[in-house]
Amino acid sequence: MEIIHLSAECYPVAKVGGLGDVVGALPKYQCKAGHYAKVVMPAYNTKFMHQNEWQTDHEQDINMGGHRLHYKVLKEKTNKLGFDLYCILIDGLTNRDNVYSENDDTERFLGFQIAALDWISQWKHQPDILHCHDHHTALIPFMIKFCGRFNRLYKVKTMFTIHNGLYQGWFGWSKIVYLPLFEKSKVGLLEWNNMINPMSSAVRCADAVTTVSKSYMYELMQDANGLEQLFAQLHQKCYGILNGIDFETWNPNTDTYLEHHYNETNVHEVKKIHKKEICQTFGLNPDNPLIVFIGRLMPEKGADLLASAMGEAMYQTEGDVNFLVLGSGGDSIEDDLNDLKPLCEGIYNVYIGYNEGLAHRLYAAADFILMPSRTEPCGLNQMYALRYGTIPIVRRTGGLQDTVKDLGEYEGFGICFDRATIGDIVISTRRALLLYNNKDFFHYLRSKIMSFDNSWEQSQKNYERIYESL
Ligand code: ADP
Repeated sequence: MEIIHLSAECYPVAKVGGLGDVVGALPKYQCKAGHYAKVVMPAYNTKFMHQNEWQTDHEQDINMGGHRLHYKVLKEKTNKLGFDLYCILIDGLTNRDNVYSENDDTERFLGFQIAALDWISQWKHQPDILHCHDHHTALIPFMIKFCGRFNRLYKVKTMFTIHNGLYQGWFGWSKIVYLPLFEKSKVGLLEWNNMINPMSSAVRCADAVTTVSKSYMYELMQDANGLEQLFAQLHQKCYGILNGIDFETWNPNTDTYLEHHYNETNVHEVKKIHKKEICQTFGLNPDNPLIVFIGRLMPEKGADLLASAMGEAMYQTEGDVNFLVLGSGGDSIEDDLNDLKPLCEGIYNVYIGYNEGLAHRLYAAADFILMPSRTEPCGLNQMYALRYGTIPIVRRTGGLQDTVKDLGEYEGFGICFDRATIGDIVISTRRALLLYNNKDFFHYLRSKIMSFDNSWEQSQKNYERIYESL
């Protein structure tokens, strides 16, 4: 099958979170399975764009709301990622330093979607599947069905994957003029609660809808930031498929970000070296267990609880644990985490910012990873942690619930809690400390979790089954 992934992110070209990881890995595994998978994404001003060679495969003008936009389709020349990568450049609109957070994201991603369809609809052949990821590409299923100028693609099957249901890409009716002409009787398929809601449109117009774990699909039917009714009504075409992890990028035995490599047999000695280095860099105590948080500092990740919960846990354990946070996000959360530093010197630190290399080194150095998420569609960090012999401490929600079994359960290997509260985080920290002090069992567990197979192979097959059914 020929599968075209359309996405705002793709690692290592541009990544903000899990979406980038998924789109950077799934097509590679699909190609390995014999499919012809490609990625089409916007061309940003990222390092990857500047460091690689590109050829212009196509260029043309499009009209968006009366504005003439010139787009170029740039193809990466060497197949560096293991699949064909196309970046669409619309000068002044796509080529910014950041993927998101501009005040004109609606126009940027609409321009990208229109240009992508303009190009694909001129191909001599038709692809089998257009696989759209998150709200930035969510108007594509509507446009190929109801915008006359793309009607060559009318019969191409579409899949829409939700990586985060909280962000739906809403915009006001004044911007409807940016859409190419469409069948007016279908305008209702764009609307939800008096706004244009791209995610709701994709859920209705795509041939299949998936999200990144079974539990999260179930949760979306109960609460989806206003769309729950829609998921419940359309449940027959909705599926939960757990993400995998890229075993080539995330392998402690070959990881290019790590100076010391390890596997299940030398994990204890080598992790100790990593931990010592990180503790030295951040002024922490190498004899204490090291618990890390890596991620966006947003309430949905439970990051607003971190400063108080970590402060309380360090107090209750009389300074017997280290905490280290890597992330960026909400200003007040960042301030709270910074304010804790002088109070807990020697056992706590925080690095505000995005740092891919440091994230890899933390997975290798840490004893535990903490994920107190309020919602977590899949969560990749806990799967990376397992692969690096780092025990997950997670709230039972979404994909965390589907991938981590509590130690109290049969064949359990992690620490799970039910509520996103300071109390539950403190109790879980105390459990972690007990486990850490039970050295033989702790070491046994660490080697065991490294052998789990959370790779993309199984998930790839699940996607394949749905594509085939379409
Ligand atoms: P989400 O997509 O909701 O942010 P995921 O768990 O699916 O969460 O994916 C998070 C990915 O982003 C992981 O690869 C994680 O290591 C990475 N990440 C998040 N924040 C940072 C950061 N500040 N520095 C480096 N990597 C980060």
